[in-house]
Amino acid sequence: MPERFDTQKVWFVGAGPGDKSLITLKGYRLLQQAQVVIYAGSLINTELLEYCPADAQCHDSAGLTLEQITQLMLAGVNDGKLVVRLQTGDLSLYGSIREQGEVLSQHGVGFVSVPGVSSFLGAAAQLGVEYTVPEIAQSLIITRIEGRTPMPPKETLQAFARHQTSMAIFLSVQNISGVVSQLFAGGYPLDTPVAVVYKATWPDSQTVRGTLADISEKVTHAGIGKTALILVGAFLGDQFHYSKLYDADFSHEYRQA
Ligand code: SAH
Repeated sequence: MPERFDTQKVWFVGAGPGDKSLITLKGYRLLQQAQVVIYAGSLINTELLEYCPADAQCHDSAGLTLEQITQLMLAGVNDGKLVVRLQTGDLSLYGSIREQGEVLSQHGVGFVSVPGVSSFLGAAAQLGVEYTVPEIAQSLIITRIEGRTPMPPKETLQAFARHQTSMAIFLSVQNISGVVSQLFAGGYPLDTPVAVVYKATWPDSQTVRGTLADISEKVTHAGIGKTALILVGAFLGDQFHYSKLYDADFSHEYRQA
């Protein structure tokens, strides 16, 4: 029996970072049954739409206003159709479900969220790295530089740089020189490793590696101005300590030294 989905609600689905196999099984099943799909054409891999029935109505939200998007959703729900809103990566980071959800709720329609693989996870997998490295970095800061969206004053890149831990910086590559100067002013040494990953998990992905000293020039030279993550920190370098978990001299709940 195929899973049945409630057509009284709008289904927000995390599309994953790009690779069309990196969607959850639940997201895939929703696409298989979808009758109305509204997708963020500027960021998601449109090959995902191949999972939808041939007669599904698919709308690119890139040129639509919030009002137009929610009208499409409400019309679908009112017609008893399964409505899927497909957004890049995971919905909980730099998404817009809250504003869409509020308009829907004003019309008495609820929504359900289905998580996705965020691009910062796709990028780490592609590089084969861990953001947490024993004794080097045990925290990850997910942030962005101010753009048209201002930053809360306590959350500037410069303020976060004080921790010198791992960082995944979204929505900022267009201002790579501003990112570099704030990180440096905040305390990261100039030899801190940086990787800029363009379109992680897509076939045309590109990675530029460097340090705070040269990454800005390298990224400009590579012509990367959007859809990229700036990963910063010693986790990208060669400093490394073995974790205690698999250490033969270390006992824990499941193993005696
Ligand atoms: N919700 C998304 C983020 C949306 S904001 C997520 O979880 O990934 C859009 C920003 O995400 C882009 O500007 C870029 O910084 C980043 N991004 C999205 N997809 C990406 C990818 N495949 N590779 C690198 N960065 C990506």
